[in-house]
Amino acid sequence: MDWCKKESSNYIFHYQKGSLAEKHIDKIIELQEICNKFISNSLKVKMKEKIKYYLCSTPEEVGEVYGDNEPCNGFNDGLDKIYAVYNKEVKCVGFHEDAHIISYNTISRPKQAFLREGLAMFYDKVWWGIPNYAWAKYFLSNGIYLHIKELLVNDNFYKHNDVITYPVAGAFVEYLILSFGIESFKTFYSSVGEDFDSAFKTVFDYSIKHIEDKFIRYIDAIGIDEAIYDLIKVKLREKHFSYE
Ligand SMILES: [Zn+2]
Repeated sequence: MDWCKKESSNYIFHYQKGSLAEKHIDKIIELQEICNKFISNSLKVKMKEKIKYYLCSTPEEVGEVYGDNEPCNGFNDGLDKIYAVYNKEVKCVGFHEDAHIISYNTISRPKQAFLREGLAMFYDKVWWGIPNYAWAKYFLSNGIYLHIKELLVNDNFYKHNDVITYPVAGAFVEYLILSFGIESFKTFYSSVGEDFDSAFKTVFDYSIKHIEDKFIRYIDAIGIDEAIYDLIKVKLREKHFSYE
C-alpha cells in the first residue's frame, strides 16, 4: 500500500491520499501529541522510538494492513505500531492504543489483560463517553459487577462483555494509582508474573481481596446523578446488553 507520511515529535503518521485522515491530519497530530505527552509525563517515562500510526478507512483495511486479515477498529502490534480506523463514523484515536504502546516500551507488558486494559482505560477515563467509575457503580448497584479475581484470568476477561470488563479495569487501576502513587504502580506493573497475588502483596502490602473491598467502598462513596444512570441504560439498550 502506498502511504502518505507526516512526522511529529512523537509519531510518524501514515494515511491514504484523499482519505478523511489526510483532511484531518493536523488535528489528529495535535490530539495524539497531547495524549502522548500526558501519558508520558504522568508515567514519568519517555519512549525512544516514534510511534508509527496507520490510519485506515475501514476495519477490514486495518486487518489487511497489519496482515492478519482480522477486521478491527484499533489495534497495536505490541511494539511501536498502531493501526486505527479513521472515517466519518469511527475515529479510533485518543489515549487508548498509545497508552498500551508507551507502557509496553517503557515499563512492561504484564500477562493479565485486566491490567493492560486497565491502564489504557485509566487514560481513556470514559467508555462511550461515560466515566469508568460511573459504570463500576452502576454494575455494583445492579448486581452485575465482576470481581477482580475472576477478571485476572484472561479467558474470563475476554469471555465477559467488554462494557463491564474495560471500565471496571480502568476504575480499579485508577484506584491503585491514586492510592499508592505512580511509582508503586509501575513497580507492580513491571514485577507481576503469573502469581498476581504475591506480587500484589509484595508491592502494596495488602491482599487483592482487601484492596478490592476498599475499592468497592470508594466507588460506592462517589455521588452520581440519576441522569448518568439513565444514559447508561440508554447506551446498554442501544448495544443490546441485557442482564435481567
Ligand atoms: Zn486496549
